[in-house]
Amino acid sequence: MKKLMALLVCIAMMAVSLGVLAEETPTLVMATNASFPPYEYYDGDTIVGIDAEIAAAVCEKMGYALQIDDMEFDSIIAAVSSGKADFAMAGMTVTEERKQMVDFSDSYATGIQAVVVKEDSPITTVDDLFAEGANYTVGVQISTTGDIYTTSDIEEAGLGTVQRFPNGNEAVMALMSGKIDCVVIDNEPAKAYVAANEGLKVLETEYAVEDYAACFAKDSELTAQFNAALAELTEDGTIQSIIDKYINTGDAAEATDGEAAAE
Ligand code: GLN
Repeated sequence: MKKLMALLVCIAMMAVSLGVLAEETPTLVMATNASFPPYEYYDGDTIVGIDAEIAAAVCEKMGYALQIDDMEFDSIIAAVSSGKADFAMAGMTVTEERKQMVDFSDSYATGIQAVVVKEDSPITTVDDLFAEGANYTVGVQISTTGDIYTTSDIEEAGLGTVQRFPNGNEAVMALMSGKIDCVVIDNEPAKAYVAANEGLKVLETEYAVEDYAACFAKDSELTAQFNAALAELTEDGTIQSIIDKYINTGDAAEATDGEAAAE
């Protein structure tokens, strides 16, 4: 009888612990705009990229599962501040204006605003855009820092026109078809778009240098937890290895090496 009781107790305990194990891991919803390679883009039906992988690693460390919601860049801050999303990673630049609406994590990457033109474009440096009488039509992604800078430096200064697109891809398509003269966009997506579309180049001169960070609703407890996990993953090299996986810093040299090795 005692043995039977012990067995029953054992079975009951196993059932309880199985139940605990089966309990679902809580999920954090991340807002992004998956038209921003190599930070976030579609590989088939899946959103991949630097932000997607860093988010997955950080969430795992925080004890959460990750769900990524794709939306217009323009909707991200509202989604986060209203609680529709728990946080956002979208190659988002830390700005004073955005800090009024959301809290930012520590920065995990540097971004550069770059200019994409057709290979035969008369625009050869960033300064050409601000030259007296320039009058170029500049494409940007709506609500990005590229939009903010060019609106003030070019449109409001009476030096040209700014056309706003919902995402980088549509801006680049307008450039390809000659509707606009250039696209001001972050450097890494700029390089990805140039690689994917014939006849385009990125100007060597930079428009601006910026910090990327994740953002959270104001006063969210998640920000500190995220920063702690991010610091650990920076320390152990995980973050750098994710960035290196998507950004080939050795460029030409490494490509040549790769070719030589393949021969
Ligand atoms: N870094 C730019 C910004 O934050 C663009 C980001 C994006 O288009 N995903 O405004």
